Amino acid sequence: DPRIYGIKAKIRVVPDFPKKGIMFQDITTLLLDPKTFKDTIDLFVERYRDMNISVVAGIEARGFIFGSPIALAIGAKFVPLRKPKKLPGEVIFEEYELEYGSDRLEMHVEAVDPGDRALIVDDLIATGGTLCAAMSLLERVGAEVVECACVIELPELMGRERLGGKPLCVLIEYR
Ligand code: 5GP
Repeated sequence: DPRIYGIKAKIRVVPDFPKKGIMFQDITTLLLDPKTFKDTIDLFVERYRDMNISVVAGIEARGFIFGSPIALAIGAKFVPLRKPKKLPGEVIFEEYELEYGSDRLEMHVEAVDPGDRALIVDDLIATGGTLCAAMSLLERVGAEVVECACVIELPELMGRERLGGKPLCVLIEYR
């Protein structure tokens, strides 16, 4: 799809951010161009509109930016998966490893029902740890994770292998 080239061109790669050796994929430059931002959302909407998705779960914070417009367009509810201590209701959580230490994602338990068909959205998959934790949260409450969707994949980090065969749809691979 020719729209992919436009999207790729709007993502800024920042060397040595947030620390030396990291090539940071900055999606804020994509958001500055409404046409390309819309193309990004449209590509996902075209894929998911007829897949009976009942819930879009977006990962804090950049998964919110892409996940909520997708949810609105396909008529699904939106559920934020958040960093610790942000959600006021009853939550379940999953911990996942970072390069140094660990982090955690939380989800409101009552937000998702058994049998919900879930799409998980984030901006980027690196090692896959974050998406893995997100999948566990949804599955623990009885939802079926239909697919994960990211704008960017770093295939060299093999995050896809950690998803246990769950389908992952990405628009751009950065090598
Ligand atoms: P993983 O858990 O797959 O190793 O890391 C993915 C998470 O880290 C995502 O939530 C993503 O937003 C963030 N992340 C890691 N590297 C980058 C990057 O280069 N650019 C952006 N935008 N996010 C990143």
